[in-house]
Amino acid sequence: MISRRTLLKAGAAAAFLPPVTLARPDTGVTAYGFPLPAVTLTGGPFAANTGRTHAYLKFLNMDRLLHTFRLNAGLSSSATPCGGWESPTTELRGHSTGHVLTALAQAYSSTGDTAFKTQGDYLVAQLALCQRPNGYLSAYPESFIDRVETGQQVWAPYYTLHKIVQGLLDQHQLTGNAQALQILLRKAAWVQARNSRLTHAQRQQMLRVEFGGIGETLFNLYQLTEDPVHLFTAQYFDHDQVLDPLANNVDALAGFHANTQIPKAIAAIRGFHATGDTRYRDIAVNFWNFVVRQHSYAIGGNSNGEYFQAPNRIASELSDNTCECCNSYNMLKLTRQLFFTDPGRSDPGRAGELMDFYEKALFNHLLGAQNPNSTHGHHCYYVPLRAGGIKTYSNDYDNFTCCHGTGMETNTKLADSIYFTDNNLILYVNMYVPSTLTWPNRGITIKQETTFPETSTSRLTVTGSGGFDMRLRIPSWTTGAQVRVNGTATGTPAPGTYLSIDRTWTSGDVVEISLPMALALEPTPDNPSVRAVKHGPIVLAGQFGTGNLSALPTLDPATLTPTGTALEYTAGSVLLRPFYKTHGQRYSVYWNVTGSTPREARYLFDEASGTTAVDATGNGWNGTLVGGVTRTAGRSGTAVLLNGVNMYVNLPTGILAGATAFTVATWIRLDTAATWARIFDFGAGSGAYLFLTPRTSAGTMRYAITTGGSAAEQRIEAPALATGAWAHVAVTHTGNLGVLYVNGAEVARNNALTVRPSGINTTQNWIGRSQYATDPYLTAAVDNFRIHSRALSAAEVSQLHANSQ
Ligand SMILES: [Zn+2]
Repeated sequence: MISRRTLLKAGAAAAFLPPVTLARPDTGVTAYGFPLPAVTLTGGPFAANTGRTHAYLKFLNMDRLLHTFRLNAGLSSSATPCGGWESPTTELRGHSTGHVLTALAQAYSSTGDTAFKTQGDYLVAQLALCQRPNGYLSAYPESFIDRVETGQQVWAPYYTLHKIVQGLLDQHQLTGNAQALQILLRKAAWVQARNSRLTHAQRQQMLRVEFGGIGETLFNLYQLTEDPVHLFTAQYFDHDQVLDPLANNVDALAGFHANTQIPKAIAAIRGFHATGDTRYRDIAVNFWNFVVRQHSYAIGGNSNGEYFQAPNRIASELSDNTCECCNSYNMLKLTRQLFFTDPGRSDPGRAGELMDFYEKALFNHLLGAQNPNSTHGHHCYYVPLRAGGIKTYSNDYDNFTCCHGTGMETNTKLADSIYFTDNNLILYVNMYVPSTLTWPNRGITIKQETTFPETSTSRLTVTGSGGFDMRLRIPSWTTGAQVRVNGTATGTPAPGTYLSIDRTWTSGDVVEISLPMALALEPTPDNPSVRAVKHGPIVLAGQFGTGNLSALPTLDPATLTPTGTALEYTAGSVLLRPFYKTHGQRYSVYWNVTGSTPREARYLFDEASGTTAVDATGNGWNGTLVGGVTRTAGRSGTAVLLNGVNMYVNLPTGILAGATAFTVATWIRLDTAATWARIFDFGAGSGAYLFLTPRTSAGTMRYAITTGGSAAEQRIEAPALATGAWAHVAVTHTGNLGVLYVNGAEVARNNALTVRPSGINTTQNWIGRSQYATDPYLTAAVDNFRIHSRALSAAEVSQLHANSQ
């Protein structure tokens, strides 16, 4: 939804803004979308998708969409009935008409093309003729509502009604259609009457059946009308069984139908905006965190067979029925609302997380869910992630799935999340998409030129003048981002943050953004060997033609070779291309990555805040700061500061699994000389481990490795590490040889180490904590901690020290 408050602030700068005013400003909102007419796509794949859906909307015969509405109202209709989910016997019939109302409204608002307005007006006028005196308006009889209220089998009647009421609201708000609002108000009164006569328990029973976003639309209507009846009618759809665990930050989503739940979270955040009740906000935020962090695939989609699975089950849930498209459509809606609410993501260290996810799901899931070979934008329902899966699509009149419907909506509003503003003083640039922003009320135009993601640069040209704070999203996947204003570099922006450029802008100012992309292998949480290949944010899929696969293909990352075409690699005989461009053939997004998986991680600890220690290699071995770890000035950027009481850094399981050799190197400023603290300790308890302590009770620094407890330790001993000064320490171990380095120079070695790291099940991998519970925690600042699955040479270790790396 476009914030009407922004519209009011913006004034009628663009041609197609309807005279709609909101009675109530949203509570708790500090960022706003621009109205659709303010942003124009100027090329690239998003504009192409939009063109196909626009063509489909113009092609669609409105009388065919009205057929079942007219019959249900006792009116005659000679139109050819639609098929698929719109057939006259399908219980969901009528839902597509709601999607078309929304899509037409968005298409008209974006383009000003009156063909969309004419069709929308016709649809609204004809629907008015189908509305019953009691306000009921549907393509199926009201007896469906009796059935859902009494627990009898019926598909999802309120889900369908939601599509229609939201379509009417969009027709009113985006095109200024007054009749649409009149129909909607009468229909809202019917919803209120129908539900007010039920008990709370009866309503809760009814809410077990999918009811879509009707709560959201009613909250939106309340913001428009200020009528308290619309508020409490919206709250009739608060589903306790789902909302209560979320309010308590409990992930109880497993086993629930995914797309039934996402709109409940959207309604919750709109409930927060309408009422200021922070419980609603917490429900929405917690839900988003669970779904994005624990239930989403590499392409940003979620669900298998439409259901949420147990948290962190990904590799074990690859099928032909993964990633229903509606789910991502709704997750992006939720993400936008959360961005409005908390654009900087006050959740520490996660400033860019919302829009990083938006980009991931938009580019990898939804962009590629439309068939580019169909002039009408035919759309996927599921996006299979089984190895050997293939995308299948809808058609003109005989499909009409839910995802065909949300696909029409998605592809008529692709420009709505590129730019956001706060109070007309901040300009967020969130997406790198070729587009022009005509900033209402500021007399400023921003022209964005890019071929992202095929290139990793974008260029913004400002026309007009004035002061504002341009905040560029620096994605978490980039390394070495550079931003230049009129040719002058602005410093080193950190990944996962926003770079603020607060200045007085003048016409002709140019911002050049470079976001280098690296090849990365994103592991699944339930099987680190199962990985998706990414180049920057873009998931690459192996292209398998007509050849089905019965198991995950194997991939040796060392064989990945760029073809010379952007975003394309070969691995042996297999071509990898962007998944969003993968159509008409079988593919695999996930691979069984063989032994040469990069078991390398680098922790710079330069995140602004938060509990994630990002693996800067892009290999996905992110760590977690435990116990309230804070940050302090580091050897470069910031370091983590460990207090010697309960703080440590937890590194992922498997990081050295199978390694026959390794290097651990880090900068450390030891703050106390407690004995037996650990710089690092990787292992599985006090029986098998490898560790480095800065000081033993014998006054030595010690590396030890064992598979037989302390009595069987094999060791390298060196003088204890001094306190109070930064030192670079490194351990290398390959074959029987282990070497200990301090400040780039060897200080001790042992060439009789017969225990191998591969013999240790490294499930507890810690910086600053021992496998032995009685040992003290480390009191130190730690920076630039790195792990390699090979022994670095003396020259390489020396180089790390010399370069403060
Ligand atoms: Zn769907």
